[in-house]
Amino acid sequence: MKVVSNLEKISQEIQAACLRASRNPDEIKIIAVTKYVSTERAIEAIEAGITNLGENRDEGLLEKWKVIGDRPSWHYIGTLQSRKVKNIIDIVDYIHSLDRMSLAEEINKRANQPIKCFVQVNVSGEQTKHGLSPNEVLPFIENLKEFPHIIIDGLMTMAPNTDDDKIIRQCFQTLKLLQVQIGEKNWEHAPCKELSMGMSNDFKIAIEVGATMVRIGTALVGEKEEVQE
Ligand SMILES: *Cc1c(COP(=O)(O)O)cnc(C)c1O
Repeated sequence: MKVVSNLEKISQEIQAACLRASRNPDEIKIIAVTKYVSTERAIEAIEAGITNLGENRDEGLLEKWKVIGDRPSWHYIGTLQSRKVKNIIDIVDYIHSLDRMSLAEEINKRANQPIKCFVQVNVSGEQTKHGLSPNEVLPFIENLKEFPHIIIDGLMTMAPNTDDDKIIRQCFQTLKLLQVQIGEKNWEHAPCKELSMGMSNDFKIAIEVGATMVRIGTALVGEKEEVQE
């Protein structure tokens, strides 16, 4: 499938979800997750109207950025090893996977200007998922105020791998609740206006619960095999 056709379908689904939740579709940013696909396919996404690209490895990000440049906003969405921060820090506009103090220290040290970060939260508690547990999030963010190069722009989570919509919805609701609690603190370094949640299989639920950034890979640009069509 062409990215334009996928994007059209996804945009319609986003509009329908917004209607159900009485939200304005303009509040939702689509991040095209291009980690599975080629640079050509990422360019096709941009030509279809995508303005945000997400990658989960420094190699993939650099490879595409070298060709595409700064035209889209670049989102780093994967687990980030501290030693890799220096490779991506001058390219990325957003880091969605801040999950520990040592990483915050490294970002703060390497960045030349404030970087918009999302605190990754492991709501479901699944062993395989990264992120802070919900009760660690507020104290963690409070401690980040000493870092001038870190702005907490929002929270990020990945829903558990399940077909049970109720469990997925609860996960997203927990993230929303945390965002409200952080907002009440009025921390200058943590406006926390964004919620990065929802992927190909669950973005509609995420939008109903309040997502402002959905990270969509498979449903938008496809998986590796499809590109060779
Ligand atoms: C791969 C990935 C996505 C996109 O997943 P799809 O199911 O292909 O839409 C979103 N977020 C993160 C953190 C990812 O690693």
